[in-house]
Amino acid sequence: MDVSESSNFQRIRAESTGTFAAIASIDKVARLYSFTAVPGSDLIVNVGLSTQPILSPWRSRALIIGPVAVLLCGALVVFAVKLGKELRRRALAEAELAQLATTDGLTGLANRRRFDEVLEREWRRSVRTGTPLSLMVLDADHFKRVNDRYGHAIGDEMLKALAAAVNRCARRPGDLPARIGGEEFSVILPDTAEEGALFLAEKLRSELASSSIPLATGAIPACTVSIGVSTSHAEAESAIALCEAADRAVYIAKRAGRDRVEYVPISRQSIPLSFTPDLPGE
Ligand code: GH3
Ligand code: MG
Ligand code: MG
Repeated sequence: MDVSESSNFQRIRAESTGTFAAIASIDKVARLYSFTAVPGSDLIVNVGLSTQPILSPWRSRALIIGPVAVLLCGALVVFAVKLGKELRRRALAEAELAQLATTDGLTGLANRRRFDEVLEREWRRSVRTGTPLSLMVLDADHFKRVNDRYGHAIGDEMLKALAAAVNRCARRPGDLPARIGGEEFSVILPDTAEEGALFLAEKLRSELASSSIPLATGAIPACTVSIGVSTSHAEAESAIALCEAADRAVYIAKRAGRDRVEYVPISRQSIPLSFTPDLPGE
């Protein structure tokens, strides 16, 4: 048989040695050709085995391995998606826990722990940058009487209303309103000098003095607050010194008749000084 015109033979002649798969021109069977020219002669040795017997063991193995590999890949994808979900849930739970650990349950304000952390941080920052740091501490007046008269539940409602007012007063992003005790609140005011802090404190005091708490049985007057303010111009020897000055100012406000704002400077803590701020607009 003359196969010299077939495309397979043309290719064999052109390449002189190699391997390729093609349909045989003789019997139209798919074959794997391996060929090489015999050096020093015109002969070409060519073996053309049918691909069917060569590939059939591989095919039957591939039919088993293929689906298994697909199943494994699918399982891996499902596992990865589930793992990602779990990791996200865990991160959310941790964030929620961290939030709970620093939040007061009744009012939703920052709790004492967070207050201490932030005050320490802001005090360091104020010393580093030389910017003023003010602290406002407020204590509800005669709160025991509120509980005695209206009951603990209404006392709690009043604390929530107090917290909401304290929260409204701290309007800058760096300000931190916190509940630091039973009926004691505080606002950390970074980068705020005494005039600004006293203005805010007086505004809060007068707002609370004139507000009322709506109850199902009718509104009752909100309790008044005594507010102590102190400011450090980077001279407080510690965050605690600032706290003590503001606490002392609250004490002075209580002694002076409650429902008022008092200021104690850091440097003169031992000599109580009270002054009435010149409020804008007065
Ligand atoms: P002062 O004007 O001197 O501050 O008087 P006061 O009655 O507010 O002060 P005192 O420290 O004697 O009493 C604080 C009261 O606050 C006592 C307590 O029953 C009440 N209190 C503290 N925490 C809570 C709370 O979470 N809920 C309620 N309802 N009352 C609280
Ligand atoms: Mg108190
Ligand atoms: Mg009190």
